[in-house]
This record gives sequence, structure tokens and C-alpha cells, in this order.
Amino acid sequence: MTHEVRMLGTGNAFLPHGRYHSFLIFDRKHIIDAPPTALSSLRRAGISPAEIETIFITHLHGDHVFGLPFLLLEKKYISDREGNAHLTIVGSSGVKARLKTLCNLAFPGSLDDALDNVTFIETDSGTIDGWNWERFRVHHDDAVDPFGYRFEHTDGCSFVHSGDSGPCENLEHAIERSQLAVVEMGFPQWVPSNHHHKPDDIQSLAERQSHVKLLITHTFVDMPQSGFDPILTDKLPDHPDNVHHLEDGDIWNFQNSEWVSLKNRDIFVQ
Ligand SMILES: [Zn+2]
Repeated sequence: MTHEVRMLGTGNAFLPHGRYHSFLIFDRKHIIDAPPTALSSLRRAGISPAEIETIFITHLHGDHVFGLPFLLLEKKYISDREGNAHLTIVGSSGVKARLKTLCNLAFPGSLDDALDNVTFIETDSGTIDGWNWERFRVHHDDAVDPFGYRFEHTDGCSFVHSGDSGPCENLEHAIERSQLAVVEMGFPQWVPSNHHHKPDDIQSLAERQSHVKLLITHTFVDMPQSGFDPILTDKLPDHPDNVHHLEDGDIWNFQNSEWVSLKNRDIFVQ
């Protein structure tokens, strides 16, 4: 069986040149988070919001969830007027109330029925579409209930999403049991905080977990060919061979028991 992890965005909250907010879709129907650029990301990849079956929420920072009202609004008025495309949102216990507040702030009253039709799952593990998933606490701002996810399909395919997190034991433990890990690198080296991975953290993680493919997202690094002066920098750090710095549009396929990179920015409708 083939599985696909596709990056619809790879930037941090500050939107480095050439990148949308970090945003992942797998098997073309399950997404991780709903960033402000989510609808733009789906549009340029030619994917309809009605195709989305599940949203896994990592945490409640704006660059991870503020796109939800636009996805629900689009579904209601454009791509799923009949209300046949059922949506499930997986998140920690505080997620449902916060997302309802967000939607009500964005479009007062308009999304009440859409939210009533969403199934919220608040358990910390479960099975969806053959994927056994587990949610684990990570090291980030506790005010936004930060988690990562680990997914393992019944056919043996596995991957981790770090959410936003600095180095931490739970994340390390999830990664060491997996074939592929999508890990954030939100901070340059000079920022005095450990709430995100920095280039040196990725270096040491890659050395410890040399059997795992580490895909770097939520990055502060511009795309080099943007044509603009760098916002912070457009130089990717040098990292070991098991580290892959992602670009918007990158696709990884699981075939013949391993994850393989398909470079394909051409998927975007320009
Ligand atoms: Zn965050």
C-alpha cells in the first residue's frame, strides 16, 4: 500500500520568503493543523476542503489554527453545500472550546451548524483510516496545550509530527520508534529560548537518530531563489544526510517499505 506525506507549507509564523505556514497533508485527506495560509495552500495544490476528512491539532497558536474558520466557511458555501463531507477534528481537551470561540469571532453565527457537524475526538490515541495515532506532550508554551503526533499504519508505515517543540524526551521517544519524522526548526541559533528546535538541536537529533529520516519544516530560512533580500537568512544549515530541509510542495511516498522523496513543486497551480 502506498502512503503520502505532502508539505503544503513549510514556514514558521513569520512566513519566510517562498513559504506558506507549515502545513502537512497525508494520504490526501488528513491534515495536521489549519494555519492562516491553509486555504491558500489547498488551493494552489488543487485540493478541495471537502476532501479533508480529519484535522489533527497540535496546539493553539495562531499560525497553527487560525485558518480553520476559512476552511469551514469554504466547505459550507462552496465545496460541501450539501454537508456530505464529514469532518473529524482530533485535539486535546481544550481544543473544541477554543476553536468554537475562534470561529465565532471570525464569522459570528455563520459556522455554528458547521461546527455542530464536526466530530471532535479528545482521546490521546485512536485509529483513523488504518492509522493508529497517538498524541504526546511536547516542550513549547504550555498556554497553548502543545502536542506532537505519532502515526503508524497497520501496514507498518510510520511517521511523527513534532508540532511546535524544542528538544524533549517524549518527542525523542516517538522519533526513535519511527521511520520518518517531520520536525520543526522555528528558531535561528541566536534566539534565547528552547521552545523551538534550532539548527544545532537538529544536528544532534540527527546524530542520535541516524536511522530516521528527519524532514525539517516550520523553518525560519527563506527559500534561496525568492528574489528578495532575506528576512532573516536564506542559508540552510549544513546537516547530516538523514536531514532533509523541506520546501512547499515536497512529497514523500511510502513504497516498498521505505519513505522516498518526490521533489514536485509542479503540483502547484500557479
Ligand atoms: Zn507554536
